[in-house]
Amino acid sequence: MRIAFLGLGIMGRPMAANLVKAGHEVLVWNRSARQHVDGATTAVSPADAAKEADVIWMCVADTAAVERVLFAEDGAEQSLREGAIIVDSSTIAPSATLRFAERVNARGVHWVDAPVTGSKIGAENAQLIFIVGGANEPVEYLQPLFKAMGKLVIHMGDTGKGQSAKLCMNLMIALIYEGFAEAFTLSQKLGVDSNKLIELIQASMVRSGVVEYKAPFVLRRDYSPNFPLRLMHKDIHLMLDAAKENRVKLPALETVDEIYELSSEEGWDDLDFAATLGLLEKWAGLRSQVK
Ligand code: NAP
Repeated sequence: MRIAFLGLGIMGRPMAANLVKAGHEVLVWNRSARQHVDGATTAVSPADAAKEADVIWMCVADTAAVERVLFAEDGAEQSLREGAIIVDSSTIAPSATLRFAERVNARGVHWVDAPVTGSKIGAENAQLIFIVGGANEPVEYLQPLFKAMGKLVIHMGDTGKGQSAKLCMNLMIALIYEGFAEAFTLSQKLGVDSNKLIELIQASMVRSGVVEYKAPFVLRRDYSPNFPLRLMHKDIHLMLDAAKENRVKLPALETVDEIYELSSEEGWDDLDFAATLGLLEKWAGLRSQVK
């Protein structure tokens, strides 16, 4: 298949590399020119990449970035061919997804929202889980590409349901990590051995994939970005917007949002979201080790 891959960040670059590895013809484009992918052709614009592509796959930061790569003057929309499939692995607003899909559907182009979970390690090892919304036919057609980049596809329903489910899942990640960070902070003040606390958590009914992934980084206070704080903060705003649109109250998430606001003010946007622990440690008078 001929694939245009737009967005070569933490996630997009290894995803595109795995498509090349699986033998597909891949054209890549990134807003800033610093990124490239071995074995792929670098395009000069999204429109250039999308020319004659069967599939246009995006993995960019947010809703505004998706709008830019598709609909700007040099956007992919300029060269879409009828029957092509646009796949969006960015995490963006479900409501914007419906708007964008309607616009390209009018030109005979399919839309599949396919946000991912698995973070940087999952992208690098082709172990992502795709959370998919869209019609059956294009989703079936994409199976070999999902397989090249991931380990599981969950087809949640029609267009937008992938993004909606992804937001609900990330809501839990944000709250579970906050719960862990609060317990971890209190445990230090109580003089509990950190390694033993994690052993206990993971042996008990509160064991968690979030703790399994984050604990080794937390123990080293290594906050190099797997999932940057600014992106989780963006997702929290998407969740709160969706909650408002649907008259749902999310009081715990509103409190966690404040922690992200303050962490952002500390200048930690480009660190991993695990760095939010640093704020609790600072408030507790523990030596803040965020750097
Ligand atoms: P990232 O490393 O920050 O990369 C973001 C990408 O978007 C870069 O290619 C960036 O281009 C591009 N971009 C940003 N603003 C743009 C704009 N206005 N126009 C065009 N391109 C723009 O982020 P990432 O971690 O790869 O995440 C990508 C998406 O996947 C996000 O929606 C994120 O929420 C989601 N996601 C991330 C993870 C994770 O663990 N990292 C996990 C699941 C889902 P430049 O290089 O020019 O800045």
